[in-house]
Amino acid sequence: MSIRPIYLDCHATTPVDERVLAAMLPYFTEKFGNSSSINHVYGWEAEAAVKQTREILAAAINATPEEIVFTSGATEANNLAIKGVAEAYFQKGQHIITVATEHSAVIDPCNYLKSLGFEITILPVQKNGLIDLTELAKSFRPETILVSVMAANNEIGVLQPLAEIGEICSDRQVLFHTDAAQAIGKIPLDVQAMKIDLMSLTAHKVYGPKGIGALYVRRRNPRVKLAPQQHGGGHERGMRSGTLYTPQIVGFGKAVEIALAEQAAENQRLTELRQRLWKALSQLEGIHFNGHPQNRLAGNLNISVEGVDGAALLLGLQPVMAVSSGSACSSATTAPSHVLTALGHSEQLAYASVRFGIGRFNTQEEIDIVAKHAIATIQSLRKQATLV
Ligand SMILES: *Cc1c(COP(=O)(O)O)cnc(C)c1O
Repeated sequence: MSIRPIYLDCHATTPVDERVLAAMLPYFTEKFGNSSSINHVYGWEAEAAVKQTREILAAAINATPEEIVFTSGATEANNLAIKGVAEAYFQKGQHIITVATEHSAVIDPCNYLKSLGFEITILPVQKNGLIDLTELAKSFRPETILVSVMAANNEIGVLQPLAEIGEICSDRQVLFHTDAAQAIGKIPLDVQAMKIDLMSLTAHKVYGPKGIGALYVRRRNPRVKLAPQQHGGGHERGMRSGTLYTPQIVGFGKAVEIALAEQAAENQRLTELRQRLWKALSQLEGIHFNGHPQNRLAGNLNISVEGVDGAALLLGLQPVMAVSSGSACSSATTAPSHVLTALGHSEQLAYASVRFGIGRFNTQEEIDIVAKHAIATIQSLRKQATLV
């Protein structure tokens, strides 16, 4: 077997935990029923499994099970939230506020709405990646219907101040949506305390399967109206039709259950690994730490490197580690990361950046190997640069 690079790209996706897989397997074969079949045990079994995940997700964010709408992932949940609100509330107003560092699954639906005539305010971020709350407060208009600010950033790991944003939105009776794809299972989330009206979730960033996610839709104080984006059999109380994917839903529930049980200890362990990696790398000159130093995901380290070419850097790292520059979703393009340029970086620094996403299955030994190879790669590229 060939030696595979050390996986440090946990913001792109994570492997399915063996415990999650074990929980899923029976639902592909003997428990294969359709959760909408109400006349026999096959359907009841599937329905019971779906109900259990609904309860786990609701408890994880302090919602009720009826407020969970299953989707194919966070991309679909974001689309349903943003376009669903836009369509349901357009007579009230046609202005939406979001942030420059959002995932493309928020930015692109907003741009689509803009093409239909909606007005979109895109808030800048400060140098540490956080939004400025006074800036947010100033950008409301009488026609504002939605604010969408992510919980945890997928490139630089910063955690936006959800409770403060929720307070500002609820004072103005404007709906607050948050993309919590990177946050679920990793940081405490509470839709009541944080006054969140819509929240997008996904399983595959938290050791669950790909292709399953959910949208939390508030039912009381206020009751959020949503125009469905997929019509059909009226599943998920009409908000998202389609037969529920029971095995994936079971895996989603198990993944979140495990992550919550292990959250405190795991965050401690990941913080230590991240600090160890940063301590090693920052011995070099000209290494920038991207994003707020404390308000961040435990496993995220994002750096920009002076004096090297970004593509050459990633190429040099590749044999030893699986990392990204920017996000997986935009790495097919050659433009520098929109998140790093929003921090005010030059093009060179935005290009020459590395995102380390440390996760559940990484060890200290791996971090030491990664640090050693990254330092050697940077030193050698800088040496070459001075020779030409
Ligand atoms: C991964 C990710 C998404 C997309 O989630 P999918 O479930 O893959 O559709 C959306 N937003 C953020 C912040 C992400 O990290």
